[in-house]
This record gives sequence, C-alpha cells and structure tokens, in this order.
Amino acid sequence: AKAQGKNSYHYFTHDMQKAAIKRISLLNDLRYAVKNNELFLEYQPIVCFNGTKELKAEALLRWQHPQKGRIPPDDFIPLAEESGLIIEISNWVFEEVTKRIKQWRISLSKDVQISINTSPSHYFNQESNITEWLSLLLDKGLSARSILLEVTENLLMEADADVSRKLFQFRQAGVDIALDDFGTGFSSISYLKKFPTDYIKIDKSFVNSMTDVSNDKVLCEAIIVMAKKLGIGVVAEGVETQEQFDILNAMGCDYAQGYLIAKPMHICDFETYLKEN
Ligand code: C2E
Ligand code: CA
Ligand code: CA
Ligand code: CA
Repeated sequence: AKAQGKNSYHYFTHDMQKAAIKRISLLNDLRYAVKNNELFLEYQPIVCFNGTKELKAEALLRWQHPQKGRIPPDDFIPLAEESGLIIEISNWVFEEVTKRIKQWRISLSKDVQISINTSPSHYFNQESNITEWLSLLLDKGLSARSILLEVTENLLMEADADVSRKLFQFRQAGVDIALDDFGTGFSSISYLKKFPTDYIKIDKSFVNSMTDVSNDKVLCEAIIVMAKKLGIGVVAEGVETQEQFDILNAMGCDYAQGYLIAKPMHICDFETYLKEN
C-alpha cells in the first residue's frame, strides 16, 4: 500500500508539472497573440421580447491560435486574469468595440448598444484604466448608452467600497450595468441591494433546464417577478428552443439571447444582421 501511495504521489506531481508547463506555454502564446492580432470579437444579438427594435449585442472574445486552432475563452481568460494580461486585452476590447459602434453609426446609420464582459482586475488593479473608459467614450462622440458593462458575482464577492464606487460612477454617467450569470452564485440577491444594476442576466443553466426541471422554471419566474418589482430589466441567456422562448415571454422576461435567435457572429455577419434589422 505504501509503494502504491508513493507511486500515485509521483504520478500526481508529474501531472501537475505537465499542467503547469502547459499553462506557462499557453500564457506565452497568449502574450504573443495580443501583439499578433490573433484575438478578435464575435457579436451575439440580444433581442427584445416585445418586438421593439433595439439593436443590442454582446461582444465575445475569440482566440484563433495559429497551431492549436480556436481556444475557448473559458480556457484563456482565467489565465489572462491571473497574469494581469487581462488589462491589456480588455483595453483592446473596449477600443475595438467603440470603434465599431462609431463606424456602424456613420456607415449604416445604426445605433447599437454593445455589452462588454468585465473582469475583477478592471476594478481592483491600479493600472487599469477602466475609469478612463468613460472619457474615451465621450471623446469618440459616443453616448454612455453605447456600451453596457457586464459584471459577474465573483467580482462582486470580493468587492469593496472602491469597486462599488467605480460601478456607481459608470452608472451615473449613463452606462448600463448588468449582473451576469445571475443565480449561479451564493448571494446573487444580496448584490442587488448593494450594487447598482440595470439588468440581470439569468444564467443559461437555468434557461436550459427550464423545460425539464420544474424547479428551474419556478426560479426563472421568481427572478423575473422580483426584477420587475425592483425596476431591473431581465435578459435570459442560452435560449435555444422556441419552447424556452415562449415560456420566458409568457413570464414577462424582457430580452433573449441564445442560439435560437443567433449564435455569436463574425463581424461581417453581424453587419449583415444590422443592415437587416
Ligand atoms: P458569458 O458572459 O456567460 O457568455 C455567454 C456564453 O454563452 C458565451 O460563451 C456564448 O457563446 C454562450 N452562448 C450563447 N448562446 C448560447 C446558447 O444558446 N446555448 C449555449 N449552450 N451557449 C450559448 P463563450 O463565448 O464561450 O464565452 C464564455 C465566457 O468567457 C463568457 O461567459 C465570459 O464570462 C467570458 N468572456 C468572453 N468574452 C470576454 C471578454 O471580452 N472579456 C472577459 N473578461 N470575459 C469574456
Ligand atoms: Ca456575459
Ligand atoms: Ca452569462
Ligand atoms: Ca459565464
């Protein structure tokens, strides 16, 4: 038993070592990717249940690795966050998004609101210039309503007075704030009390299981009812079927996002979408 224990210990360290090497090499690749324009954005439309023609979409980061192909954001964003590279990446996202919004306004005469995912480091890191984002927006001649900042619970969990002050500044300037992945954390509801929120995004795990797990349907409905009473807009994410769409619509949900409406699109396809809507 002792020998076996020793062996498994060796295997364990060996695997850990392999994983660590893999991470370091991916991080090096990511550093290079930022400089080498391997990162790009896809846009996923968000539509209004009541048929209002508001043009909204979420910007989703993509990495086309020259050898390894597409690397999912869930694999490289945590790495970017731990290494601090997320600051540079997010500033690029912000630049890119605002440049496009301006372009669409001029060349297509379309006013689009783009949601940007933000990371904890934006609000905590001293180097971050998220506070400059506001002046950059206005410098470009864009209104604060052109962007929406999505924040997740893991950000708010560690948040202090400084973070809520930054969020409050944005909101006061007219930037919409959405609480992303709502319902997946331990204290989603208490954040509604502490932080300014214009929208909540019901996590796709609830929406996906809504038609099989009756509790999840009840939870969705309760979230919608609560949000309405608080004057908060509700976006359902991960809407994949007409059945889910119809149920959410009947519950009074405000916006839908998901494969049923559209998958995240390459910018060219998104521009076609804008022209048609
Ligand atoms: P998220 O913010 O919750 O984004 C929604 C995810 O759900 C996206 O995955 C999207 O492609 C996927 N999705 C959309 N509709 C459906 C659907 O109908 N069914 C299913 N099963 N999935 C759907 P993606 O693009 O892989 O992004 C994963 C996460 O990476 C995002 O989760 C977000 O937390 C993070 N992320 C993406 N872009 C950025 C970024 O620019 N900055 C930061 N900080 N995080 C980002
Ligand atoms: Ca999001
Ligand atoms: Ca989400
Ligand atoms: Ca998520």
